[in-house]
Amino acid sequence: MTQSPTPGTEAIAASLSRIKARIAAACERAVRDPATVTLVAVSKTHPAEAVLAALEAGQAVFGENRVQEAAGKFPALRPDHPGLRLHIIGGLQTNKARDAVRVADTIESLDRPKLAAALAEAIAKEGRAPGLLIQVNTGAEPQKSGIARDEAAAFLRACREEHGLAISGAMCIPPEGEDPVPHFRWLADFARDQGLPVLSMGMSGDFEAAIACGATQVRVGSAIFGARPYPAAP
Ligand SMILES: *Cc1c(COP(=O)(O)O)cnc(C)c1O
Repeated sequence: MTQSPTPGTEAIAASLSRIKARIAAACERAVRDPATVTLVAVSKTHPAEAVLAALEAGQAVFGENRVQEAAGKFPALRPDHPGLRLHIIGGLQTNKARDAVRVADTIESLDRPKLAAALAEAIAKEGRAPGLLIQVNTGAEPQKSGIARDEAAAFLRACREEHGLAISGAMCIPPEGEDPVPHFRWLADFARDQGLPVLSMGMSGDFEAAIACGATQVRVGSAIFGARPYPAAP
């Protein structure tokens, strides 16, 4: 495969406005207010210049898979862009919990009791509490992060009651090559039953279907920044 360089500033601005128009159209079809859907621009593997181009085009919310990569790109951009919000969306190692709490405004990949304990400790030590979403492995894929469906409710309760964490929502990544809609529906039902207002689902290939199922956050990478120059960590 040939490498595709990160597109320039104008191309990124144009892609962003196309995606926003598609989000608005999907909201109209679903009879939803577009203001209820947050676009998370997934900038993993793309350089800080790409993030800056998106910021200058008015994009405020970004997603990164790896804490280290995020820590290398984002802190320097914050002083000039106070509205910038960074979401960690990739599987999180327990030993990276403290760095994640330092760099992120939201962590979308809370998926196991050990990580909940580590995040609670890091939040106490740092005096900083990012928003937290529970990631559910709706497709029961062994290689994927996320709590199992049938353990999700008990895990959510433990996060709140044992670890004192404020959980605002749920996130999933449906299996590649499968119809994502049953996964989106399951997560939407789970979030509704559990009183979780934030529903993070939908990527470049399926964000419109996710909006139809109630997504309040869509995580879009390649449709904004182009193909990734190298594979991202899972
Ligand atoms: C990379 C990634 C995305 C964005 O994927 P695209 O298909 O490039 O839009 C969304 N969510 C997660 C968790 C990711 O790792």
